[in-house]
Amino acid sequence: MLENGYIVWEGASLLDNSPIFLVLTGFVFPTSNRRTGRQIQSWILQQEFTPTKAAKQGLDHGICGDCCLKMSQTNTCYVRLLPINNIYHKYTRGSYPKFGANEIAMLERYRYSIRIGSYGDPTAVPFEVWEPIILASKKWTGFSHQWSQCDQRWKKYLMASVQTQAEARIAQNKGWRTFRIIVPNAPLNENEILCRHTEDDRMQCRECGLCHGASSKPNIVDPVHGLNWKVSNFIKYLNQQ
Ligand code: SF4
Repeated sequence: MLENGYIVWEGASLLDNSPIFLVLTGFVFPTSNRRTGRQIQSWILQQEFTPTKAAKQGLDHGICGDCCLKMSQTNTCYVRLLPINNIYHKYTRGSYPKFGANEIAMLERYRYSIRIGSYGDPTAVPFEVWEPIILASKKWTGFSHQWSQCDQRWKKYLMASVQTQAEARIAQNKGWRTFRIIVPNAPLNENEILCRHTEDDRMQCRECGLCHGASSKPNIVDPVHGLNWKVSNFIKYLNQQ
């Protein structure tokens, strides 16, 4: 019987060796995320702490690395953590069935689009774990703040998440396409376009799929959005760069 979520992998984080795990959800009940639309969501979480505790106490290095957006740094991460605690609790109860060959076949058959790293940096999990899933789904979007230090094979599947033009240039020179968060109304570079969902909120990542790693397509820019205090934390952070 088809389940909504599966445990894909458990092991030592490639970022700091702490125990982490990867769960995929959304096989039965689509996500309510209006930006992504119906994409399989992927969650990379610490094994020993609820997501809220890990974020509040800075125990999230194994899944977020040194991402500047996390709570213990600028506290501007747009991900709502409380619902993710439910995924954590379900994992600790052992309620997720193991993801295996049948589920890979299902991804191949239905061509579900997948969001690589709905929370947590995908590169914390070995590339070899992800690649069969990505190849089976054939349509994905994904982002990493760890682009400068991760396994560089990732550039074919992920966008480098960057905050400044200087960072974007460095990543692009290394062969990455970039996804840059800007302050509202900031100018774009000539090799950048606005996120299509921002242009037209009927467009969702599932159909758009532009954020899928290296290609000749333009780099993507998105104005910071979300709760007012997070936006102002982000603007403060950018002004200090
Ligand atoms: S550009 Fe397309 S794929 Fe990328 S975030 Fe925007 S809607 Fe999603």
